[in-house]
Amino acid sequence: MEPAAGAKAEETFQLADRVNRISVSPTMAVLQAAEQLKSKGVDVADFGPGEPDFPTPDHIKRAAIKALEENRTKYTPAPGIAPLRQAVCDWHAAQLGSSYQPAECIVSSGGKQVIFNAVCSLVNSGDEVVIAAPYWVSYPDIVKYAGGKPVIVETRAEDNFIMRAADIEKVLTPRTRMVIADSPSNPSGAVIPPEEFAKILALCQRKGVWLLSDECYSHFVYGDAKPFSIASVAGSKNRVIVVGSCSKTYAMTGWRVGYALAPQPLVAAMTKLQSQSTSNVTSIAQYAALEALRGPMDSVVAMLGEYTRRRERILAGVRAIPKVTCTAPQGAFYVFPNVSAHLNAQMPTDTAVAKQLLERESVAVVPGEAFGAPGYIRISYATSLERIEEGLRRLNRFFAS
Ligand code: GLU
Repeated sequence: MEPAAGAKAEETFQLADRVNRISVSPTMAVLQAAEQLKSKGVDVADFGPGEPDFPTPDHIKRAAIKALEENRTKYTPAPGIAPLRQAVCDWHAAQLGSSYQPAECIVSSGGKQVIFNAVCSLVNSGDEVVIAAPYWVSYPDIVKYAGGKPVIVETRAEDNFIMRAADIEKVLTPRTRMVIADSPSNPSGAVIPPEEFAKILALCQRKGVWLLSDECYSHFVYGDAKPFSIASVAGSKNRVIVVGSCSKTYAMTGWRVGYALAPQPLVAAMTKLQSQSTSNVTSIAQYAALEALRGPMDSVVAMLGEYTRRRERILAGVRAIPKVTCTAPQGAFYVFPNVSAHLNAQMPTDTAVAKQLLERESVAVVPGEAFGAPGYIRISYATSLERIEEGLRRLNRFFAS
């Protein structure tokens, strides 16, 4: 007789420890759940995935079409085509004041693969990696996959969730291999002030620890903040790994183009790893990214203007919900309200809040627990003002009931 599906199957094969140590990306899980509902015709207020709702700018799409027509559809060098690596270095120098050569640049399938490559190239079994909570969902799992140990440093809402050198210093041990800084932060929107960032760098250099700086949201900052890279600080290069991406800056999430700027031997190791896993980023996506980085920045300015308006509306709307508090994000495109005053026996966790919001109001959000911040939910405002209004109506109804 055929064994019953499910239970029996689990008994008959075992997965490798490295994959058992990690979970499905919670952001990807929310994205999938929302897509499933939409495919059934449900009108979802989708605050889930952090991805621009703007189309990829036309000049970038045209570059991809041209690349297709010119049959640029073959393998490329694993770390990316030479002009793109040069363009990344030029763009980063012009926009953010760094100074890198193409040999210090690798292009990978999104910022996520860059981080994966860097962590897997540097972290040995038992090594510790310092991560500030609230953190982007994938940092701890990538570290665990590599056999490392995530060491979480709590930041404070009253301090706008800023990662501080003094807090990092308290948790450093001889096993610390890396500190991950995420500024602007996904999910909190925290922006590390440049002088604090310089202190974090100095600490890492003093202790011989790598500083991975995730700068994927560099160009979406509000108020007085300016796009900033720690790589603009003189003498930073020996310890810094810059992670950047076209996904957010140019509304190119699906194209999967990210990059690292790092010391050449590390880039060589990351290239070796990538050459044995995914090889090059899709060739036509690389030509699109080349146009993005060499072309005008108007679309980025326009998106920032729109995010600025949305940020004000969503922040005011969320703060108007009784017993919900929310710090003002200084960058990225998320608000991260504290909903803990609404937890009760029927809805004991933020994960339950997110689940019930989706079931009862068709509102997609990501629970704070996924970011190491219980009691919070993440709301992406990379969606139109009209959808934000609709979502706020539903959130109000939900928390009033
Ligand atoms: N920035 C996106 C988010 O956090 C990335 C999605 C992901 O790959 O986790 O929603």
